[in-house]
Amino acid sequence: MKSVAGCRLDSPVQYLRGVGPRRAALLDRIGVRTVGDLLRLAPRRYIDRSRMTRIADLLPGDEATVIARIVGVDVRRKRDFRTAVSLLVRDASATMVAVWFNRPDLKERFSVGQEILLSGRVSLYHSKQFVNPLFEVVRPGSDFAFENAIIPVYPLTAGLSLWTVRRAIKSALSGCVNLDDETLTELQIQKYGFPASGEAYQMLHMPRSLSEAERARCRLVYEELLYLQLMLALRRQRAVRNVKVSPLPETGRLTRAFRASLPFRLTTGQEQVLKEILADMASAGCMNRLLQGDVGSGKTVVALMAMLVAAENDCQAALMAPTEILAWQHYNSWREPLTTVGARVALLTGSIRGPQRRRILAGLKSGEIQLVFGTHALIEGDVQFHRLGLVVVDEQHRFGVQQRSLLLGKGRNPDFLVMTATPIPRTLALTLYGDLDVSILAEKPPGRKAVLTRLIPEERRSEVYEAVRRRLVEGEQAFVICPVIEQTEREDLASAVRVYEELRRIFAEWKVGLVHGRLSTEERRRLMEDFRSGLLNVLVATSVVEVGVDVPRATLMIVEHPERFGLAQLHQFRGRIGRSDRQSYCLLIVPRDTDDVLERLRFFALTTDGFRLAEKDMELRGPGELLGTRQHGLPDLRIADVVRDRVWLERARDDAFELVRTDPQLARAEHGVLRRNLAERFDSGLSLVSVG
Ligand code: ADP
Ligand code: MG
Repeated sequence: MKSVAGCRLDSPVQYLRGVGPRRAALLDRIGVRTVGDLLRLAPRRYIDRSRMTRIADLLPGDEATVIARIVGVDVRRKRDFRTAVSLLVRDASATMVAVWFNRPDLKERFSVGQEILLSGRVSLYHSKQFVNPLFEVVRPGSDFAFENAIIPVYPLTAGLSLWTVRRAIKSALSGCVNLDDETLTELQIQKYGFPASGEAYQMLHMPRSLSEAERARCRLVYEELLYLQLMLALRRQRAVRNVKVSPLPETGRLTRAFRASLPFRLTTGQEQVLKEILADMASAGCMNRLLQGDVGSGKTVVALMAMLVAAENDCQAALMAPTEILAWQHYNSWREPLTTVGARVALLTGSIRGPQRRRILAGLKSGEIQLVFGTHALIEGDVQFHRLGLVVVDEQHRFGVQQRSLLLGKGRNPDFLVMTATPIPRTLALTLYGDLDVSILAEKPPGRKAVLTRLIPEERRSEVYEAVRRRLVEGEQAFVICPVIEQTEREDLASAVRVYEELRRIFAEWKVGLVHGRLSTEERRRLMEDFRSGLLNVLVATSVVEVGVDVPRATLMIVEHPERFGLAQLHQFRGRIGRSDRQSYCLLIVPRDTDDVLERLRFFALTTDGFRLAEKDMELRGPGELLGTRQHGLPDLRIADVVRDRVWLERARDDAFELVRTDPQLARAEHGVLRRNLAERFDSGLSLVSVG
């Protein structure tokens, strides 16, 4: 076993006393690679030993922790071949049972006479018992007898015991040589009354009281968020200072005619955000802007105006959409008006190949093509631009930061506009888009009626079909959204295929289509177009219709198993309708036995504000869920939780931006600590301060 002398925060955790390769692999599963990771592993909760309950006082249903002595160990194989390891334990007041299913390995761990800590929910079965409780065997004389009253409980994974984690942490605390290196400025420590760096780790893992643990946690949360925000502040500073090919002022040569050709007038909100965007474009520094606007608020036309301004200045503009269907839709609906005013446009997606693709690439390289709509295909290596002045990314959260910079790299410091229809709670926006300026498109085009949302119990499904029929007769259209494509293991889930078959039968005199992710892009595109043009009356779909699709005559949306979707996602679906002056309805078919989600769905039905829905979603399901699992680009936060720690997030944000404002290079002596740590934490940290 390796010596601990000389271990540092960035040493692999494997070199700690008592860890080794096998345990290191287990720790890796909970995201712990270095000694620093380990020390920043925040306890999920603490058990206060001084408030331990006596077995005699336990009540069924209680969440409780007891310390008791093992008086019997028993292993059984049940009829269904599951093993059950059970303990009979006793404290000064009474006895109870602890049982673990399917953990045959545990029987080696226990022996009569050991003292054990058990923590779980109390149930009653013959006697009081814990099922699968958290446990820790007390090892007398070891470092880990419970010398502290407060016992931290860490997130664990199978095979990794609390004991292992605590032991590793203890050797990190005693063996890490740069534990005490300060990571915050003197001023920050004073301002918030934080413990010093090394002390904070000590207090987090071996607190003498719960309030001490909380103080330590706050410091580490702040520290983590501060560095993230410093990074964002520096990135933003760099963007603003980056000089682009040339300023791009609006000349009106193309935009005037385009405006005149629109069948509507821009709303005040659209004019306002456009003004912000055009001001950025006209300046010497790069635009780095997020345009947030609820679904249907009319972001596209704003982006098109900006793209035309780039073209007016002999620059090219690219709009990148997350799916082929959306890229194609943008292109298809705007090619004509754009061409009419004299702009040269093209579409580039993955399914465009061969000579056609070569032609487009040549056009982009020569500058012949001014405006290009596309997908990820735009960031491929062989795509070159003549003079790329503006990059617009639609529905950004589906793109990673990496892809963002790849596209930007196709030009020399092009202006950058991100559009998103996912209303992002402020806390999340600060972490995800903290380096961007934000424009918010609050109002919707006039004459739109708010979509009315109703919860319909499964047994009244026929009424829903009646409603559909009435709509179809009026020449309107309906979406039906289903959570899965084919019947899977969960028999009860309405599959899109089954719903489709059923609806085809019920609405035999109408045209019903089915679109899902397993169809080829070409097939999907044709179906979407058939729906848009009215050839199809009803479109059954999986969540591929979630983003951007624009079908004004669709006034009805039926959602099967709405409980399976997040609120923000449901809101996206709902945004597909209500795009005309007709009253639109969103009908959620609520299955039986869903009392637990009913409240959530009721909240959805009553709330039309996307921001409030997103906030609620984030509270209920966490930030990752809100953005979808795919490439959400969330920074890796270990201790901080942007929902719970929003106050610290705001503080860190203010402090970081103020620091960079007053000391753009972090060059002052008292900021040396920040500069050093920034370089250690982020590979690009140093370049951000030295490029300036
Ligand atoms: P989103 O912000 O969700 O991307 P879109 O840009 O797709 O919204 O716009 C939704 C619909 O509203 C489109 O059909 C668009 O042509 C229309 N639209 C945009 N601006 C206006 C406006 N000022 N008045 C009326 N309709 C508008
Ligand atoms: Mg859109």
